[in-house]
Amino acid sequence: DAYLSAIDAANERFNAYVAVTHDQAREMAAASDAKLAKGEGGALEGIPLGIKDLFATKGVHTQAASHILDGFKPEYESTVTANLWADGAVMLGKLNMDEFAMGSSNETSYYGPVVNPWRRGANGVGQADNKLLVPGGSSGGSAAAVAAWLCAGATATDTGGSIRQPAAFTGTVGIKPTYGRVSRWGTVAFASSLDQAGPIARDVRDAAILLKSMASVDAKDTTSVDRPVPDYEASLGQSMKGMKIGIPREYRVDGMPDEIEKLWKQGIEYLRAAGAEIVDISLPHTKYALPAYYIVAPAEASSNLARYDGVRYGLRVPGKDIIDMYEKTRAEGFGREVKRRIMIGTYVLSAGYYDAYYVQAQKVRTLIKRDFENAYRDGIDAILTPATPSAAFGIADEDMASDPVKMYLNDIFTVTVNMAGLPGIAVPAGVDANGLPLGLQLIGRPFDEETLFRAAHVIE
Ligand code: GLN
Repeated sequence: DAYLSAIDAANERFNAYVAVTHDQAREMAAASDAKLAKGEGGALEGIPLGIKDLFATKGVHTQAASHILDGFKPEYESTVTANLWADGAVMLGKLNMDEFAMGSSNETSYYGPVVNPWRRGANGVGQADNKLLVPGGSSGGSAAAVAAWLCAGATATDTGGSIRQPAAFTGTVGIKPTYGRVSRWGTVAFASSLDQAGPIARDVRDAAILLKSMASVDAKDTTSVDRPVPDYEASLGQSMKGMKIGIPREYRVDGMPDEIEKLWKQGIEYLRAAGAEIVDISLPHTKYALPAYYIVAPAEASSNLARYDGVRYGLRVPGKDIIDMYEKTRAEGFGREVKRRIMIGTYVLSAGYYDAYYVQAQKVRTLIKRDFENAYRDGIDAILTPATPSAAFGIADEDMASDPVKMYLNDIFTVTVNMAGLPGIAVPAGVDANGLPLGLQLIGRPFDEETLFRAAHVIE
């Protein structure tokens, strides 16, 4: 009830929820109460969560924040949310996001932007102004809801940074697990070879508990991996002695603000003080990750989004024949950024360009993966980098709006991780000159989320 009334009071301001499931939340909470009264209940019994609008929730609003899925209520439940409910969690509602998870500011949502609960000058640090800031994206609703205490934790997804960048912009913790750790079944597909779900939470412990519930092998997603899910919470508080943390020189990008540099140094000092050995490393293909991502991700998206044709789901705009109906539905149903991705994707997959762009990007992807493999072969346990090149920026920022590539640069530190299929966590590590949260990122070996939780807990 406390969470529902907080949402009712504050959602108009933050626009974090696109649907609030009052009745369902109360029913699920009552069932949890009954279990707890009998001394029963799962790991998340009675814990109220927000669910990104990308996850299919049976009978409940599921639109990937797109107009084209108007009125869509799936007949089935995603594996991730089913796992959470099986452990006793309670659904508060569906969270705003960038349309089809394409974006870094939550401004591409059909439902309008989400407002970051943080303001410049918060807590008396730096220059106060009234400018509304973005929460990051695409999981902007998830991050804002967690930061504003409108849920105890949230589900999110990350194709190129969509868990870690909004976590960094809102002072929350977000982890993108290893590709295959979490089932993608029932999660609306953006770029299938990059997409992974994970939690956004208020601290590292909550993120560890949530990921344990979300993760599973699943016969309905053949890329999910059959490995036991460890007790992530148990890795918190373990010593860093004997661990080697790599600092990749290529992440020291041109024009990086001093405060990000300072934050990174501070993170290094925390880990060193906890007993870790700090090692300079090189990931030489880093600079090709962003351009390669913006070929691979749109290519897969253009194929995945072909299913929204006005026949099977959501919106249908009548036309004079079926082709006309497809065209009108897609013209009206998709927003600008989604159309841009479909056009880029279709172009790089078309005859004559496929070898020059798509095949080339796949080769670059292999080189990026090898960079990490080499570092891990040399004994590196985890890699520390900044999570984002800046703190949260303003809603309708002119620079970003006029040049989509500037927006894409937000993902410069996060996309490599998706290209290599590795786990990455963003953890709050300090504030900028205006008191806005800044995050660091730890990148791990495949299926070694435990080391990330352990190291992130030292930094938080
Ligand atoms: N911002 C990136 C994009 O727009 C990543 C989004 C994501 O991780 N879903 O593609």
